[in-house]
This record gives sequence, structure tokens and C-alpha cells, in this order.
Amino acid sequence: LKLNRSHSRNQAQFQARLEAQRQARRSNIEEVTDLSTVAAGNSLFKSSVDNFSNIDELVVAGNQSFENLDNVDFATFRNNKKLGRKTLKEVEKQVGRLHADRTSPEFKRDLSRVLNARYLQGHGIQVEAHLDAKEMRDLRKYFQKETSTYNVADAARSMNASLEAGLEDVGEIKLEAEKYLFTERGLPAEQFDERFANLKIQDLAKIRDFSDAWSTSQGGKFLRLTQGESFNQHRESMSREMLASYGYQHVNSVDLDTALSLLRDIDSEGPRTNDTIRESVNQSLAEGEKDYFVLNTRANQAVLRDIGVTQSELDGLEVSDKALAKAYPDDEPRESRAVRTKVLRDLLRALPLDERAVAREQLTETGANLINSEATLSAHFGERIQELTGNSVKINKMGAMQRANFTSALSKMPKALRLEVFTGPSKEIANQLEKAIESQFGIEVHRQAGTAPDGNKSVAPFVKDWTVQGLVDLYNAMNGMAKRGKLPETLIGNSTIAYVEGASESPSMSVGPQPIVTDPVGPWDRPGAFAHDSGKSGYYGMCAPDSTGHDTVYFCDDALKGTNADSADTITVGESTIIHEFGHAIQLGGTPGADTETRTKEQQVAMAEWSALSRWSEPDEVLADGVMGTFEYYYDPTVQVGKRREVATSYGASDPCEDFAEYAPYFFKAPDVAMELSAEKFLYLNEMVGGFYNKEQVRQVGHQLGLSRSDLQRAEETMRQKIAAAPGEAQIKLRSA
Ligand SMILES: [Zn+2]
Repeated sequence: LKLNRSHSRNQAQFQARLEAQRQARRSNIEEVTDLSTVAAGNSLFKSSVDNFSNIDELVVAGNQSFENLDNVDFATFRNNKKLGRKTLKEVEKQVGRLHADRTSPEFKRDLSRVLNARYLQGHGIQVEAHLDAKEMRDLRKYFQKETSTYNVADAARSMNASLEAGLEDVGEIKLEAEKYLFTERGLPAEQFDERFANLKIQDLAKIRDFSDAWSTSQGGKFLRLTQGESFNQHRESMSREMLASYGYQHVNSVDLDTALSLLRDIDSEGPRTNDTIRESVNQSLAEGEKDYFVLNTRANQAVLRDIGVTQSELDGLEVSDKALAKAYPDDEPRESRAVRTKVLRDLLRALPLDERAVAREQLTETGANLINSEATLSAHFGERIQELTGNSVKINKMGAMQRANFTSALSKMPKALRLEVFTGPSKEIANQLEKAIESQFGIEVHRQAGTAPDGNKSVAPFVKDWTVQGLVDLYNAMNGMAKRGKLPETLIGNSTIAYVEGASESPSMSVGPQPIVTDPVGPWDRPGAFAHDSGKSGYYGMCAPDSTGHDTVYFCDDALKGTNADSADTITVGESTIIHEFGHAIQLGGTPGADTETRTKEQQVAMAEWSALSRWSEPDEVLADGVMGTFEYYYDPTVQVGKRREVATSYGASDPCEDFAEYAPYFFKAPDVAMELSAEKFLYLNEMVGGFYNKEQVRQVGHQLGLSRSDLQRAEETMRQKIAAAPGEAQIKLRSA
């Protein structure tokens, strides 16, 4: 899976989308469909509300027992209005049996108490009779604020333990729940007692949310480091600690907004770009510059120089504040300058070197400046696309970024194939490209709009006919992953790829509108984040292995329009997305055709091996393998990464399997970056895909980075030791054992 982060303006929406996907990936989902009576055939509910003689008994009779709280689909339960109405009606009837007057305050109080109890019981809480109406409401409000299944399940577990141990004070019960949530993330219990126990419950939840959203899988580390007496102080403290951990200096000289904006920039870039940006920002900060827009502009100028734009070209593009104010009257000139610089960098960075040289020439020749450079390049790319396709595709609706992507992709296609397929109407071109890809690479290109290849009904309405641009990205991605024309063994004859536009609505865990001001992690719109058109899907791509191990990949329209900021230089986001998704297909699913149990174990072992390399662990330091008991986790904030700097991107730091998928495009397309991240990961993946790089090529990549033969040998030995120990450390019970 790869999400289009700029599609969601705030973190809550981003989390909701992840939540939806996590549920799509799990096989053991339990649904809450009834709250007050035993439904026939529903194994979830092991209680009955038939017999009660007083209100306390009625309250307790609704307690539900779930097989595993982590597998409960809380989002659907919370959004189930019909269930809400039905529960209200039934509870009114039941409470009415104990009250003659249904208008009395006593009736209303009892009704509220039982309804709040039912809401808690829907989350798995074993409520006790000592909880009065006010306490029930208090607990319900606490749960309602939690918008992640993981947090709800963990908090419910803690509360059940507290209630069972005889704790009666609701404040203490909530504090215990927070303590559990913090310690699951790796904060020692004593540190919680010392530094957090006196904070307000709301502040604790916000600190936790902030750390989950911004530290990506290193929550424990930053919760151990942070200092403060309130959420605001902790947010400040954590932001600076996070910046410092990425090598930023003078972090105390910038204000909070600047610190957060710099962190968001890190989140959306790849490793080499982040190095360039950090160096530039550190230098600016050392010179006393504190304005984020200036820092950002200079950093993107440094990125532009990295990709070959000369200082005199940059000087030639400069415009005055006055001109910027006139062109963009709603924004401050310094912000407009930052946005325009970022846009220019996005457009040029997606291009291969030869196309980039032509585009730069075009800017110089036309005397373009920062304000009109996007329009100049857009027109130029339009011409390039027409030249490369023999005027056979329509581009009038494409924005500049999409045109840059298409130009990049077309120019990388083998010329002979390009000349062969780009004849006739675009339907025919698509058809020829589909055939060429299928026969050359042995994967299936799904062509039936309105149907999903794996029969997934929720995806079917969004499956569309392939666009020519999408197919060109697909061709390049497959070509880049193929060794002497051949894809890794596990993909051949075992994968299908479909094109989608749009996505079904994500069920949100939060009911009702959530104003952005209450979002403790703030909106995501940084300068330039919405400067380009976006797709309708909200995702770049998805990968879903079916029950036999056949992989279905979905390629989304967003990937045709986005920037390649967190991909390698010159690779379009479309191409890197496809490699990312096929990366999932390589790692997950096990041996095609093998029985489910075997494949599940294989998948667990593969994930544990990968986790061992950059040290991904579950609570209690157990090596991560994607599963806790019967629960398949994904993007679980309690699963944390030890060596974040070995993970290619911030998105990769969301989960061990995303780490693998985000590493894959660098491995195939920018091997030096991949090896610089981790020689162990490089050697492991290389072996997994049947020696994509031969010994000599590996040696050469190492040599570029100053790694000697013996360095590589040591890395290989360490890698082998780690993967040999991985199944044991992940506590996987292998059948032979
Ligand atoms: Zn993914």
C-alpha cells in the first residue's frame, strides 16, 4: 500500500485511510452487530440480557466477550446508526420495565447509564455495577476520542484489568489505561509515574497521538526523551528531539511552527534529498536565518543544484517580492517564492538527465522566471509528449506535474518499442502496450473496467481502463525489476495489476466532523503540498494477495500526478509505486500454490528476517513478524523500529512490510542509495530476488560508497546471523520444531 499523504489535509483523515486498509488486510475481523440480545449464530456474543430484576443487573448483563479485541471492527460499529437506533429502542423498553414514569429524571438517568454502558460494552469493556451514570459517560467520552483500533483495544484491555482488580475511581482507571498505552510504546513504567502521571488525561492522549504521528515507529524513544508539564511543552520538546535525531543543529533557535514544518519536510523526502536539505537548513540556521519559508526556499535551491541546475540558472529565475505579490496576492512573497521553488524542483526532479537538460535549456532560452516557469515547462512537456508519441495521445487535461511524469516515462522506454506501439488511436496503443507487457514479463494486465481481478466488490466500481501513461510507467517498472528481461520468479504467472481511479469511502473511527484545531498534530498543508493536481483515489497503489497466494496490485490515478519527492531522483512516482507494490508481492504471500498454513508461516518468517536487519520489534522487544497471536497488525504504533536511519522513507517507517516495499524501488533503481542505507538489507534483498546484481556489480556499488570487499563480507555474515536467529527471536513456531 502507498498512501497519497498530500491527499489528506489532516492527520485524522490519514489515520482513517490507514485504518481502512489495515482492516482490508486482516482475515479475522469481528463485527459488532448487536448490543443487547443474543443473535442466533453470532459467536461473538456470550451474554444475554433476558433476565434482570434491577438496573445494575441490566447494566452488567450487556457485557460482551470478544475473542480478540484487536480484531474487532470498531469503525463500523461506531458508524452503525441503525444499531444505535435499535439499541436505544431496546434499552428504553428494558429500563421502562423498572420505571412507571418514562418522563421522570430517574428514568432518563438510568437510560443514559445503560446506553453509555452499551457503548463501552461494544468496545469490549466489562463494566461493573458500581459505575454510575456520570462515570459511564466519562468513560464513554474517553473512548470516543480514541480514533485508532490499536488504542481502543489496548485501553479496553487495561480498563478490564483495572476493573477486575477492584479499581473504582474513573480518573485512576483512565490514568492506568494511559500508562499501559505509553508503556506499550516502550516508555518504562517508572518513567511514566515520574514524568507523566500528574498530567491531564487529555494531554496524555494528545502527547501519545503526537508521538505516533510524528515519530513514525520510534514513539518509545521520544517519549523517553521528552520533557514538560503540559501537552504544548511536550510537543515543543519532542519536535526538537526529533529534529536533533535527524542531525539538525540549532533546533532551539526555531519556533514550533518552523520545527514542525521542517519535520514534515523530512517526512516527505527520500534519504539523499533529506541529506541535502539538512545540510542547507543547518547552514542557514547557523547564519541566524529562522524564517521557515526562507529555509525551505534555500533547501530546495540546494536540491535543484544537486540535480544539475546551475547557480546562474537559479539567479536567472529570480523575481522580486513585488512581482510575487502581484502574481499571488493572497500569499506572502516569501511563501510564494518557497512554493514556486518547490514546484520547479518537483518538475525537474522527475526527469531523467537528458530530458532535464533539454527542459533547463528551454527555461534559459525563453528567459523564464520563477513565476512563469511552471507554465513554460508545461508547454514544453506537452510538445515533448507529442514528439515522443507521434501526436497520438491527448494531453490537454494534464497539469504540469503529470506532463513531467509522462515525459520522463516516455523518454525511458526503449525507442524501438515506443515507435512500434505509438501508432493509431490511444485505445489501440493501450492494447498493444498491454500485450507487450504481458508477453515480455509474464504478469497479467487486468483490462476489464468495472470488475476487480480478485472479485473484490468494493474495489470493482473504481477499476478503469488503463491510461497510456499508466502503462508506460508499468512497462518501465517491470523493465527495471527484470534481470536480462526476466522478473523475479515469484511474480511470473502469479500477479495481476489493475488500474483504479477513486476509492470507496474510509469508515472513520471518529464520528462527526473533526475541526482541524483539535487535531494535536496539525494540518498537513506545507508550502507546495497542494501545488499539483491530485488523483481521486487518495492512494498511489495497493497490493492484495488472495487466498491462494496470487498477488493483485492496484495502481491508482494519484500516482500519475504526484511528485517523486520520496522516490529516487529521475524515477516517476508511478514507476516507484509499482515497484513498491510488487515489492510487497515479493515479500508477502509465500510460495504460490502452497497451502495456507505453509504460506502464512513463510510470510511470517520473511517479515521476521527483514525486521531483524533494522531491528523492528513488538512490545516486550519481540522481533516483529506481522502477527501478535491471532492478530495481524499493520501500522501499529507499538511496533517500533530500532534503526530508523536504515529505513528509506518516513512512509517506510510506518510498518516492517512498508519498510521492505519502500526499500525496493531504491534497490532496483538507485542501488547506491539502497546500499548506503544498509548493506545487509541490500544483500538480503538481492538474494531474495535471485541475485539481481551479480557479485561484480555488488562490489562496484560498494566501491562507490567506499565499502571494501571485507566490509561487504562482514555485512553478509552479520545479515546471515540475523536472519538465522530471526524466527526464534520472533517466537514463530515452525512446524518442524
Ligand atoms: Zn505499501
